[in-house]
Amino acid sequence: MLDHLRPDMRYHSVFDIDLEKLKMDGITGILIDLDNTLVPWRSDEPDRRTLDWVTKTKEMGYKMCLLSNAGGSRARRTAAKLSLPVVAPARKPMRKAYINGLDILGKKAQETVMIGDQLFMDVQGAKRAGVKTILVEPIGKREFAGTRLVRIIERLVLKRQP
Ligand SMILES: [Mg+2]
Repeated sequence: MLDHLRPDMRYHSVFDIDLEKLKMDGITGILIDLDNTLVPWRSDEPDRRTLDWVTKTKEMGYKMCLLSNAGGSRARRTAAKLSLPVVAPARKPMRKAYINGLDILGKKAQETVMIGDQLFMDVQGAKRAGVKTILVEPIGKREFAGTRLVRIIERLVLKRQP
């Protein structure tokens, strides 16, 4: 049962992800969370390093799409700055969110990875849709009060995984 909560890979941040290795594993599509994965919570200002990372990733041949539970207008504003397509509000962890993202990418589940900072949202939903997952650590400490509670449970679950 905990298999849905087991990320395939874990990195400190998106900048640490081994994009070359991912490519060799046959991954060409990336679905990616926004808040606390690419920008601080509720921000619509990706920093220079993040903009460069997105550009580099696209230049490597990856197709990328934002999958955010944030309200549509902020998510779309941020997506425009990143020059990325976006599904928002995506209603993760519902399977439909990932299916919509795959449609936009034009990719199959098995050639796509979901990158996010939340186990119960980003990882669980992607697993259900058959998409591989990368869990990163949240960029900032600031987040929705309910999420802080979820973090305690996340830590317990992750501690039980090898
Ligand atoms: Mg997030």
